[in-house]
Amino acid sequence: MAGRECVRVAVRCRPPNAREAGERLAVSVDEACNQVVLQGAASGEAPRAFTFDHAFGPAASQQDVYDATARELVDSALAGYNATLFAFGQTGTGKTHTMEGRGRGSADSSSATAGSSGGLPPEAGIIPRTFGQIFAAIGASQDQTFLVRASMLEIYNEEIRDLLAKNPKNRLDMHEAKDGSVYVKGLNTFVVKSEAEIAAVLEAGKRNRSVGATLMNQDSSRSHCVFTITIEAADISAGVAAAAAAGRAAGAAGASGSGSGIRVGKLNLVDLAGSERQSKTGAAGERLKEASKINLSLSALGNVISALVDGKSGHVPYRDSKLTRLLQDSLGGNTRTVMIANVGPAASNHEETLSTLRYANRAK
Ligand code: ADP
Ligand code: MG
Repeated sequence: MAGRECVRVAVRCRPPNAREAGERLAVSVDEACNQVVLQGAASGEAPRAFTFDHAFGPAASQQDVYDATARELVDSALAGYNATLFAFGQTGTGKTHTMEGRGRGSADSSSATAGSSGGLPPEAGIIPRTFGQIFAAIGASQDQTFLVRASMLEIYNEEIRDLLAKNPKNRLDMHEAKDGSVYVKGLNTFVVKSEAEIAAVLEAGKRNRSVGATLMNQDSSRSHCVFTITIEAADISAGVAAAAAAGRAAGAAGASGSGSGIRVGKLNLVDLAGSERQSKTGAAGERLKEASKINLSLSALGNVISALVDGKSGHVPYRDSKLTRLLQDSLGGNTRTVMIANVGPAASNHEETLSTLRYANRAK
């Protein structure tokens, strides 16, 4: 039952960068047919075509990508369902551009404007756009009251770090509650009352991520970054509004459908570690150990998604990695998942692009 309709897969090919300007390009996107064609590596090798739920070429705007992928996930989180959106692909293909983009508050933003959602720059990515949609919906609602919380963590080398903690070196452990749900003990979650407040949480997390990476000599392209928004909604007429407004602890498990009149939806926005193979970067020692753990998380995620999509195997191997354990309540069952596969256009990345498209293809 988990089935196809709850996992959707998109591919996005970024434009060539300055370095690739003179290079042979190997990826073409047919947006109307949702198809990507990758030219063969050697002359004479046949091109390969892949079809997904959506395909975005180099000219696709951040708004286009948002509307086709994230918008419905936000709607379902507002309605009390859990949802997860992943960006994956090799380093440099546009995962962070897709998830965060450039915009208000970023260091490289020239169009910084405080205030309403109308102020989002065109290059703003999915995460800041969800803030606008969430608070617009809350503002427009007449009969419900909402409580929104945000947290942000990273998984590096199968270790969890709270990106909103005072001490960026703090490592947190995952625990299992009596009801079987999994939570990160001691993780900071902040109640946010406006788009500006949640945008400030994201900016703080981004700062901590780069400060921490420098302090601990980490390569942030090797970590998975998870931004989670929890939305509690209560019907005003049901008289339970006060409970939600007072910040009744949501706990690890969703209260959706528990009869309390409070719905809890969770939206996980995940910028995955670069999926490049190690041979290319020539890692040794510590770095190689990291790489195998990163690949472990990515392959565990691939196995979970394909078990869900397949629907036939009763066993979904959530326990095989920190990432899949963490997201267990937001993958499969009554949840929605969107995977965005990011690729670059250059022929020189043929091998990695093919492996990204194959990974994405498993999720269909
Ligand atoms: P990743 O997070 O996958 O390592 P980035 O998001 O950092 O990759 O992207 C690498 C570079 O390419 C950045 O300079 C980014 O601004 C640029 N870029 C990525 N995707 C696009 C796009 N669709 N349009 C324009 N520039 C892009
Ligand atoms: Mg990145």
